[in-house]
Amino acid sequence: MRIVQKFGGTSVADIGRLEGVALKIKREIDAGHQVAVVVSAMAGVTNQLVTYTKAIAGATLSEEYDVVASTGEQITTGLLAMALQQIGVPARSFMGWQIPIITDKNHGNASIQSVNPKVLLACWDEGIVPIISGFQGITRSKRITTLGRGGSDTTAVAIAAALEADRCDIYTDVDGVYTADPRLVPLAQKLDQIGYDEMLDLSAMGAKVLHAPCVEMAKRYGIKVHVRSSFDDIPGTEIISQGTDSIPRISGVTHSLGWARLKLYSHSALVLQAHYLNKLLVKNRIPFESIDCHDIGEMSHLSVLIPQVSLAVVMNTIDLNSNNKNNKKAKFNFFEMILENSLAKIGIIGLNLISKKGFSDQLLKLINRDQLPLTLISIAPQKFCLCAAESLAPELVQTLHNQFGLDIKPHATTEYISSTR
Ligand code: ADP
Ligand code: ASP
Ligand code: MG
Repeated sequence: MRIVQKFGGTSVADIGRLEGVALKIKREIDAGHQVAVVVSAMAGVTNQLVTYTKAIAGATLSEEYDVVASTGEQITTGLLAMALQQIGVPARSFMGWQIPIITDKNHGNASIQSVNPKVLLACWDEGIVPIISGFQGITRSKRITTLGRGGSDTTAVAIAAALEADRCDIYTDVDGVYTADPRLVPLAQKLDQIGYDEMLDLSAMGAKVLHAPCVEMAKRYGIKVHVRSSFDDIPGTEIISQGTDSIPRISGVTHSLGWARLKLYSHSALVLQAHYLNKLLVKNRIPFESIDCHDIGEMSHLSVLIPQVSLAVVMNTIDLNSNNKNNKKAKFNFFEMILENSLAKIGIIGLNLISKKGFSDQLLKLINRDQLPLTLISIAPQKFCLCAAESLAPELVQTLHNQFGLDIKPHATTEYISSTR
């Protein structure tokens, strides 16, 4: 079999763990598989590198940000190749540009456009295990790029697609995908399997166990992804195609912090202003949650939820009162902007949520009964999106997880004992 193995930051956090990873790779080689490996930087290293760039240039994602942020993976790639050589497994390190992994020019958040498998296949022909740096690529104009935080998962699936691998194993610090972040919700349940679409919604709404573009790519190329523990040798979660399934169900509750809500007041045609705002967000690849138009006379405004890190780009472009007649480029026409910071986005992900089963009804009743302090409620068939102050997120996630029946069931034996007493 052809297998791609990916090891995340905690899995390669020190030399001891790197040597443990080398043994895991050797085990697959000894079983007769062809293996390519993708590694992240050691836990905490990319954060430190990003802190350096911020100290000099603020939060701007630029060509030079990528040059710095991509270096953590160079260290682990070389060290892992050495650790394999030490135990008698021929291995060779590759940076993204040496393959090459070609990306677009969106520095700090680039998308992979192509991967040339030639050098990797040549390694296999020579009996050498290729060890590839995650998270990075190169543009056609030969500038280094990074794929967005958590992007090594996407490198792994892109390599798996290029090599037509049978499987892509993502080794991490939890033993699978859970119905909520198990660090926040101790009663979260591990899922044995989940479909690409539900996993994509979980990732896009904050389940950082998989980088969302990686799930998108796995679906496009039909790559079987297995999320599993680096530390315990037990089955994890398989991400697979689940065909068309119409049974209403909830697969998880997610949360992500660091969101801001912008209210933009205007006397101009609101929908046209919304159109310009949408163009600005899409052009800068800023993920956003619903642009709402509130057409209510004097107080007419648009409201949008965006990541706090993207505020500068949006606020600098939307110059208040930019309806200066001499400035032909000025399209935005807002006279006031109200900003609400430090918000959490909470997602309830599933299938056919608006159905006779009544998940949407249940949600609205719960919000009303407990007077949940939410600033946004958006309901769609595959996800509910709620917004609240960051400090309230942990409790809200636990409440929703419990109320939608996702908390782990008591052990069957315990149930039996208590019901027969
Ligand atoms: P790696 O460094 O291996 O890429 P990450 O930190 O990126 O690991 O992702 C693993 C983390 O994702 C876990 O430690 C866990 O806290 C978090 N996480 C968030 N939501 C979920 C979920 N639904 N299931 C499992 N883990 C989750
Ligand atoms: N090292 C990068 C990060 O911390 C990429 C990754 O871990 O996937 O975001
Ligand atoms: Mg990760």
